[in-house]
Amino acid sequence: MNQKIIYMDYGATTPVDKEVFMEMQPYFCNFYGNASSVSTFSLEPKMAIDKARGRVAKAINCKREEVFFTSGGTESDNWAIKGLAFAKMQSGNHIITSEIEHPAVLNTCRYLETQGFKVTYVPVDKSGILDLDYLTKSITEKTILVTIMLANNEVGSLEPIEKIGEICNKKNIVFHTDAVQAIGHINVDVQNLKVDMLSMSAHKFYGPKGIGVLYIKNGTKVDNYLHGGEQERGRRGSTENTAAIVGLGKAIEKSNLNIKDENIRLKRLRDRFLSEVLKIERTTINGDREDRLPGNANICFHGIEAETLLMALDLQGICASVGSACSAGSLEPSHVLMAMGLSEEDAKSSMRFSFGKVTSEEEINFTVKTLKKIIDNIRNV
Ligand code: PLP
Repeated sequence: MNQKIIYMDYGATTPVDKEVFMEMQPYFCNFYGNASSVSTFSLEPKMAIDKARGRVAKAINCKREEVFFTSGGTESDNWAIKGLAFAKMQSGNHIITSEIEHPAVLNTCRYLETQGFKVTYVPVDKSGILDLDYLTKSITEKTILVTIMLANNEVGSLEPIEKIGEICNKKNIVFHTDAVQAIGHINVDVQNLKVDMLSMSAHKFYGPKGIGVLYIKNGTKVDNYLHGGEQERGRRGSTENTAAIVGLGKAIEKSNLNIKDENIRLKRLRDRFLSEVLKIERTTINGDREDRLPGNANICFHGIEAETLLMALDLQGICASVGSACSAGSLEPSHVLMAMGLSEEDAKSSMRFSFGKVTSEEEINFTVKTLKKIIDNIRNV
């Protein structure tokens, strides 16, 4: 494949940063010892994991012992929700979440419904922002967990996590947030947000795939999810994936260092993209124009099947997405856009463009020009 790819799907995954890759490399063939062994050879990997744990703790403002490495966002969400539900089932069986969560949360909640738990799915407004009043009124004495995402993966809407944290804190309800799309892209401080648990995944912030973190605030009673050996202080069995953990640590540190400048750059590119794309007839933005993740744009091209547009862009070397990667291939319209009040037809005419480190003004210009041409062709036919 020689064609240059214009990658506009950073919400699905990001490339591994070169410096991150360099830090990971020695842990494949040189320092490959088992970090949990007692031999001297395990010292280097053990220290590397310690360093990564410290970097994560510093980035989100928590204690080292509150950081647990997992295999990614899906496992972290499963652990947080099922672990809490089963640990607290004697005191209540009610969970509150939102209609726009990622399948890692929604399907976990649906599973728990088959196990006797009751789940409330809080609606959102047309910008994808959760109805705080509805959430507050949904709380009962049986509520044991509230799980609400920090930033939505399709439309980039930023949820009122701090306010939800306050509500849960006052009522003594455990609060988990899926911060997979937010970490490394906006500042996240677990103390300010008053969250008890938080999920992240390295491949969304220029780290490797298959590695994540679940932050569990000290004192939060959560059952183990993976049962096995004594790794992660007896909370998650399985030999530590040292190289990936090192990569996650470096990636979160590096992303956080550049967050302010990168956000300014991304917002400028996104605004340019929006102002040009929205000039195309019968094109609207899904979600708020400003109040969203800096690298996210979600556009409805009314009357055009987004799948057709996606394939036409793909032929031109432009990689974007319809809905999220986790629901790609599904014939159903996006549950997020439907929850925001779009018709089924408009939801199926919507595309996500997500920008990142390598996105340039030239790429934005080329994409807009190509979009105009393709849409003209489709509409003329
Ligand atoms: N939560 C959100 C909001 C996501 O966007 C994703 C992945 O796209 C996940 C969870 C799942 O993360 P992972 O791919 O690391 O399992």
